[in-house]
Amino acid sequence: MSRLHNNLNKITKLDIAIIGGGSAGISLAAKLNNVSAVVVEPRTPIERDCSWALWANYAQKTQFQTAIKGSWQQWRVTDHHTEVLHSSDQFHYISLSSAKYMGQCEKNLAEGVDLIRATAEDILTEGIGGSFSAGGQQYKAEKIYDSRPLKVSEDSLKQHFLGWEIRTKAPISDPQIATLMDFRVDQSRGLHFIYVLPFSDRRLLIESTMISKKLEDKEWYRQAIYQWLKEQEIEIEETLAEETGIIPMQSINPLDIKSGAIGAASGAVRLSSGYAFASIQEQISKLAECISCGDFSVPAPIHPFLNHMDKIFNGVLMAHPELGVTIMMRTAKALDADGFARFMLGSATLIDWAKVILAMPKVSFLKQIFRQ
Ligand SMILES: Cc1cc2nc3c(=O)[nH]c(=O)nc-3n(C[C@H](O)[C@H](O)[C@H](O)COP(=O)(O)OP(=O)(O)OC[C@H]3O[C@@H](n4cnc5c(N)ncnc54)[C@H](O)[C@@H]3O)c2cc1C
Repeated sequence: MSRLHNNLNKITKLDIAIIGGGSAGISLAAKLNNVSAVVVEPRTPIERDCSWALWANYAQKTQFQTAIKGSWQQWRVTDHHTEVLHSSDQFHYISLSSAKYMGQCEKNLAEGVDLIRATAEDILTEGIGGSFSAGGQQYKAEKIYDSRPLKVSEDSLKQHFLGWEIRTKAPISDPQIATLMDFRVDQSRGLHFIYVLPFSDRRLLIESTMISKKLEDKEWYRQAIYQWLKEQEIEIEETLAEETGIIPMQSINPLDIKSGAIGAASGAVRLSSGYAFASIQEQISKLAECISCGDFSVPAPIHPFLNHMDKIFNGVLMAHPELGVTIMMRTAKALDADGFARFMLGSATLIDWAKVILAMPKVSFLKQIFRQ
């Protein structure tokens, strides 16, 4: 472990620097040991708080225990014709407070690993390392990991949403079920659904989520939420918070990925679903293990086969937006709860894949396969 201060030029020399202390950056920093390192992040966990959800098995539920806001053994996907209800013993759908998760990671930083609450500037890379400034100080690191988000191009497919955390006037029915996608909303502008996580029978996170290229005016998502609540006869007593988000679902050209990129910047977002937390965790755990053995290369966050399948899926969605609801409903119907969780986590078995492929509208998918 080496941390050298060159007082003449005021340069701090480090083994490792991590730019960006979001999901990937702070998780990596918390796993480093016996190195001199910094993680540079301008925002506090509270300033950038949001909900991160994933399917977790028993071990992962225990791992994230202190940050869990809600946990559901049952989840549903609904359209005008059917409701698919999944109940799983193996996986729970859990929602984490990102602020609590990141705060915990910040507390767990080992000796020699520091958090710099500043923006990294003048980043110059040389091989796998480089130099930068942050908070008025100069740094030089043998290895730089970079989690700064990639630019979202205007013309690309994205998941965009606006959500509220609300307290309802009366207890809701079925607070034990998470609603992952309720498609009984306006489908005229893209694939649109309502997402509801009941944290209790009177406290909900409710989001209007779109998968399309074009962002909507904030009022559009709010109206969709109002309308859905009205139809479910749920009245708001208090709106506790509003959150918005844009998650790129574009395929990243491998040439655009910077050396040392980690997390979403390295392609960790599932192109078909926008979920990224689980694949980031897997990538960072593997990377930390490699670093402890002296190997600094970043593992691919998602298997190329999965990326390829997701590209086909997105291709069909862009060519035939009217098929979006059918594809999602058929996927949910084709799989049981555990298969669905595995599918969303990117760890589907061959049998899971076969069930999904057989359930898809064949002509559109075959055309897309030949187009790719
Ligand atoms: C609102 C929202 C909700 C989401 N919900 C889910 C979910 O439920 N489940 C799921 O699987 N995925 C979810 N995602 C997708 C994904 O999990 C997150 O985007 C995740 O935070 C990506 O982690 P990351 O570390 O790659 O990037 P980020 O968490 O975005 O971290 C990058 C960090 O870099 C910092 N930064 C930028 N420039 C600099 C600089 N020059 N110097 C220093 N720091 C810099 C930023 O402040 C930021 O904190 C969500 C995304 C959003 C936006």
